[in-house]
Amino acid sequence: MPKKDYKKYFVSKPAYEVIPVTEVKGRRGAMTLMSNNLVPKANMYIETGWVFGMPDPNPHIHEHTHDYDEIVIHLGTDPNNQEELGGEIEFMVGGQPLIINKTSAVYVPKGVKHGPLTWKKYKKPHLEFTIMIGAGTLAQADPGGHEKSRKKKKEKK
Ligand SMILES: [Zn+2]
Repeated sequence: MPKKDYKKYFVSKPAYEVIPVTEVKGRRGAMTLMSNNLVPKANMYIETGWVFGMPDPNPHIHEHTHDYDEIVIHLGTDPNNQEELGGEIEFMVGGQPLIINKTSAVYVPKGVKHGPLTWKKYKKPHLEFTIMIGAGTLAQADPGGHEKSRKKKKEKK
C-alpha cells in the first residue's frame, strides 16, 4: 500500500454548481472539475462547458472582473483538425476585441475587465474552459461573472 492515499485528489464526478443568470440555448450546464469543494485545499478552480449550437442569448457572458488571474481556453473537438475551433467568438479583454476562431488560450490578469464574449459564428461543437489558480471556490472564482451580475440584478429590484 502506498503511504499516502491520493484518491482524495481524484475528481471522477464533476459538480454542476455554476448557474447562469438566464438559461442559454446551445450550452450545457458547466462542469466544475476542480475546486475546494471537490478537493479540499486545492485552491484551484477549473470548469468546462460544451457549446453545441449558436448560443442564445448572445452574449450571455458579460463584462466582469476577478480577484484572480484567469485562463480562458476554447478547444475545438475535431480530432482531424485540432486547431479548428468550429466557431468564432469575439472576446473583449481590457476593452480590446480578441477574435477567437482557433483552439486557443487567453491569460486574463486579475482585475482586468473582460467580456462580453459574443459568438459571431457557430459551425461545430467546442469546449470552453476556465482555469483560476488561487480561487478555490465558485464564489471566489465566479467564472462568468454570473454571481456578481445576479447580485446586481437583486440590488436593482
Ligand atoms: Zn472571467
